[in-house]
Amino acid sequence: MIIPFLSFSPQHGPIRSEVLAAIADVYDKQWYVLGEQVKAFEAEYSAFNRVAHTVGVANGLDALHLALEALGVQAGDEVIVPSNTYIATWLAVSFVGGVPVPVEPDPRTYNLDPARLEAAITPRTKGIMPVHLYGQACEMGPILAVARRHGLWVVEDNAQAQGAAWEGELTGSFGAVNGTSFYPGKNLGALGDAGAVTTNDETLAAKIRALRNYGSQQKYYNEVIGHNSRLDELQAAVLRVKLPQLPGWTAQRQAVGALYNQYLAGLGDLVPPAVAPGATHVYHLYVVRTNRRDALQNHLTAAGIGTLIHYPVPPHRQQAYAHLNLPGAFPLAEELAATSLSLPMWPGMTEQHVAAVAGAVRAFFAE
Ligand SMILES: *Cc1c(COP(=O)(O)O)cnc(C)c1O
Repeated sequence: MIIPFLSFSPQHGPIRSEVLAAIADVYDKQWYVLGEQVKAFEAEYSAFNRVAHTVGVANGLDALHLALEALGVQAGDEVIVPSNTYIATWLAVSFVGGVPVPVEPDPRTYNLDPARLEAAITPRTKGIMPVHLYGQACEMGPILAVARRHGLWVVEDNAQAQGAAWEGELTGSFGAVNGTSFYPGKNLGALGDAGAVTTNDETLAAKIRALRNYGSQQKYYNEVIGHNSRLDELQAAVLRVKLPQLPGWTAQRQAVGALYNQYLAGLGDLVPPAVAPGATHVYHLYVVRTNRRDALQNHLTAAGIGTLIHYPVPPHRQQAYAHLNLPGAFPLAEELAATSLSLPMWPGMTEQHVAAVAGAVRAFFAE
């Protein structure tokens, strides 16, 4: 059985005609940038995420970048980021002249370890950027407590975790202002690049609305030096069709995750994902760990099973961050990069798919 790492077919098949009708509607209305679709999507996403304001932007990286700009991060300001995140979190800090200060994860959840935060705080620290990695909510209670104690803001990177929760509150609703991504492969994906900022702060929302549109609130009047980072009407129209499906798709991801947990229990040194008490996991990715990662990946590839590595090189080992002179200082991030493997995970995967993946993993460890 060939099992791709990701298939959109079970998600996109049933809504095909609805999506195409929404696209045709935008085509016919002849209004393509910042119109009624973006406005309606922003209201609908705010209701979904239980926040007061959503501002649609061009992609997830811009969402984080504009969030930090709106908070007034300046050259030399330090921002705490995970040592084991996707590089976008660090790049957003660098774009505003800030210094990313990596903190190692809890080795069980792979999320920012609240107990390690205080040691990284200096007089130059301005904020903390938790990333709900792979779809599991960070331990927001302890993170927010540290932030409050030190007068820091929090900006959540919610690109991988739409719909996840910490003690009943949704990710993307805790920070002063938060960023998410609707890159096609994310849990809520557009048909191209798209992203959004979520916040309960009206002033910050207004700043970001201006920043995404040339620093302008009134056409041809520019108060600040802004960007062009707008969510397209076409993408907003597609996202409006997909958003109501997200809870169902999330439930399917969670069912697949539970099946994997059953089928993969007790195989060799394989470590399945662990969920912290108080957190929910929406399984953007189902990531396992083993010291024989590369051999397991080769074995699965030969068996027709698609896998990926998230992520093979931690940000501090990237050439882009060579100037920070950090190599070797983050052993957990390096260990995760060397041992992690993402198995196929998509809404609509069947128990047969899971059993076939697990069978191939079992055969590998039996060899
Ligand atoms: C995808 C992703 C981003 C960036 O989103 P884009 O829309 O691709 O710019 C940021 N952070 C994390 C953790 C991501 O997974």
